[in-house]
Amino acid sequence: MSHVFPRHCHAEMPTAVGGEGVFLIDSQGNRYLDGSGGAAVSCLGHGDREVTDAIKAQLDRLAFAHTGFLTSEPAEALADLLIEHAPGDLDRVYFVSGGSEATEAAIKLARQYWVEKGQPQRSRLIARRQSYHGNTIGALSAGGNEWRRQQFGPLLLDVSHIAPCYEYRERGDGETAEEYGLRAAEALREEILRLGPDTVMAFMAEPVVGATAGAVPPAPGYFQRVREICDEYGILLILDEVMCGMGRTGSLFACEQDGVAPDILCIAKGLGAGYQPIGAMLCSKAIYDTIASGSGFFQHGHTYIGHPVATAAGLAVVRAILDRDLLPQVRKKGASLQQALEARFGQHPHVGDIRGRGLFRGIELVEDRATKAPFDPSRKIAARLKKAAFARGLICYPMSGTIDGKHGDHVLLAPPFIISDAEIGMLTDRLAAAMEDVLGSDS
Ligand code: PMP
Repeated sequence: MSHVFPRHCHAEMPTAVGGEGVFLIDSQGNRYLDGSGGAAVSCLGHGDREVTDAIKAQLDRLAFAHTGFLTSEPAEALADLLIEHAPGDLDRVYFVSGGSEATEAAIKLARQYWVEKGQPQRSRLIARRQSYHGNTIGALSAGGNEWRRQQFGPLLLDVSHIAPCYEYRERGDGETAEEYGLRAAEALREEILRLGPDTVMAFMAEPVVGATAGAVPPAPGYFQRVREICDEYGILLILDEVMCGMGRTGSLFACEQDGVAPDILCIAKGLGAGYQPIGAMLCSKAIYDTIASGSGFFQHGHTYIGHPVATAAGLAVVRAILDRDLLPQVRKKGASLQQALEARFGQHPHVGDIRGRGLFRGIELVEDRATKAPFDPSRKIAARLKKAAFARGLICYPMSGTIDGKHGDHVLLAPPFIISDAEIGMLTDRLAAAMEDVLGSDS
């Protein structure tokens, strides 16, 4: 009997014993195509020798030094590299062990910034209904994913959730994508005015929404208007790129493609590419300087922040993304994946939308294409699809969730950046077979 507390208490799971490129291998020798990189984690695929060698070398040199006393070479080098490529005036990096720790740190930093600026009344956070920012209690309070929140209310933080930017469901008839983008952004202004601008500390959003809705990119102009609104009312913009960052959408930081820079930016997943648990929060010079010249101390911290082995892994991963010129590959292969999905599922009676950026793609499943009516939750389409795909040797990330009060099912695809054209074909074949298993031969 296993003594591991699994995600799903009654799930019988195969044991993973190896990984090669885009495949994971279990103890029976079955090979699974990792079509979602776990949860958008394994951007370099499995068994990357350069990364594992860098980790081993760091372990041999120094495994751990507490950041209360010492910094380390890999942490310094990784921070330099991230800042060299980061947008706007992001200037400092705070390393943590994962995505939730990054968003928690971001929320606390925003709050401390305002307290130190002498505006302690700024305590409110605005986020979006269609969002996920992590599972620790502060991050969960910030996220708008009802399904994940429902058992834990009342939550701790004072967070308002505004409408998401979600063209497929929210763009009006006769409205252009640009008009919709600006209209969606204005929901932020309305909420700021409703709350009182000087009570709001920050707005938090994922540039391309991941786990809640399946790779939903923003409408054109949305984030530029959001940035303008934040600036107008002096509110900090926190972008959560835990899933969509680190090259996943074809630029190192997703927000580069929207022409905006945040005050605080969170990354994780692809930063360690699964080789080590690591996340990071980047903040602007203005925020850092306020705290440095005020209390001089960010009132936060975990034992393993800035871990030398984790930062050595992150350094090897970011170098690999940049030195191997993977970003243009992500854009090219992402376009091939989108084309392959459209060719295969574009006319599917239960596929409402195929979307995304780079190698971050989502398929929204609907009962009825014409009305966009979602499946009844009792049909558990996402869970059944995940199982069917797995049985056919494909790991993908189907999720069901509530989207503005409505149930929705979607599939998230985020394969490693090294996926070949043949493997993209294999991915779509296996997904099509799984769709047929679950939705019938009308697929
Ligand atoms: N933010 C976003 C956008 C995420 O997708 C996730 C994880 N799915 C998190 C935060 C939390 O990250 P972690 O699971 O590493 O704590």
